[in-house]
Amino acid sequence: MDNCIFCMILNGEIPSEKVYEDELCVAFKDIEPLAPTHFLVIPRTHVSGASEIGPEMEPVVGHIFGVIAKLAKELGFADGYRVVTNCGADAGQTVPHLHFHVLAGKQLGSFN
Ligand code: 5GP
Ligand code: ZN
Repeated sequence: MDNCIFCMILNGEIPSEKVYEDELCVAFKDIEPLAPTHFLVIPRTHVSGASEIGPEMEPVVGHIFGVIAKLAKELGFADGYRVVTNCGADAGQTVPHLHFHVLAGKQLGSFN
């Protein structure tokens, strides 16, 4: 997708600090971390957000959650982490390519 920051990260036009990648998804550190561990997991397929997840993307989303669980064990934050996806303007979504924030490494506050 043209002009999509995360598609540019996927194709290497914009550098990123990758923590994991496979044929379906890529995980890279957030440029403005909100916790000691803060990375984003994105599908390789451009989907604008969670509201556009259709049947073809459902297995990919399940896969992403499995990858996150594996990374939690490997990277040592299995004791606690939060997965967030912001969808749309009211939720504060700023990049219109589906992404899952993974936050860990501190006591995370409640949110509204
Ligand atoms: P959203 O607000 O859409 O839920 O989250 C977008 C996230 O992408 C933000 O946390 C922001 O810091 C991160 N971000 C935006 N541009 C870049 C970038 O070029 N590289 C990286 N690594 N993260 C980015
Ligand atoms: Zn994209």
